[in-house]
Amino acid sequence: MAPGIRFTGEFEAASLSALIPGHWYVGLACVRCGGRFAIMNEPSNTGIVEISGDAQFHAVCPNCGERAKYRAEDIISFQSAQGGSISTT
Ligand SMILES: [Zn+2]
Repeated sequence: MAPGIRFTGEFEAASLSALIPGHWYVGLACVRCGGRFAIMNEPSNTGIVEISGDAQFHAVCPNCGERAKYRAEDIISFQSAQGGSISTT
């Protein structure tokens, strides 16, 4: 069985403020600036965990401050390119 996380319900998602370069995160790409921010650690730290569900997330971009609503299918797994709260990859 493939590892996965299923989100249901509505979340007020807080972003992680200090990403570690090379680590994998579960997060969102800002609708305004495109910066990727993390809402949690990717538990396998490899990027293979599949995200599913019908959840809604309200999140504030730590880069530009844009508050937006996201859906579970908007969730991305990414490997942070740099430290800080935003990754470009
Ligand atoms: Zn932004």
